[in-house]
Amino acid sequence: MLDDLYQQIILDHYRRPRNKGRTEPQDLMAKENNPLCGDEIEVTARLADGKIAEIKFAGHGCAISQASASIMTTKLTGKTLAEAEEFIAGFLKMMRGEKLFGGKELGDAKALEGVLKFPVRVKCATLPWHALRGALHSKEGVEER
Ligand code: ZN
Repeated sequence: MLDDLYQQIILDHYRRPRNKGRTEPQDLMAKENNPLCGDEIEVTARLADGKIAEIKFAGHGCAISQASASIMTTKLTGKTLAEAEEFIAGFLKMMRGEKLFGGKELGDAKALEGVLKFPVRVKCATLPWHALRGALHSKEGVEER
């Protein structure tokens, strides 16, 4: 299936998900599902000083959706909301097959690029990222400083 290294990263996050659960409080909250595959993802985040202090995911689904959610939490913890938006935009661009500049910073998230070879699974990989982007957008304007 996927290249070995990438497959290992995805399986590792699937078997040992990082940041599973719900944050307290839930300054950001979003749910998304992918009926084609049966994936359901809930993303919650706790904010502090304009940054994502903590981010967690809950729900269930296939290995790709779960691993993608786990990878996302590890990449976005500690980022400002603007940085998180930018990172999400970069990831979604990659998942549309567009060339990235400075894509190195995607780190483990780069492993999900292999999913592009399986177009029906792309939605699985992008689901958690769409959920968080929706939550970020709903937050905008609410807490202007
Ligand atoms: Zn799926």
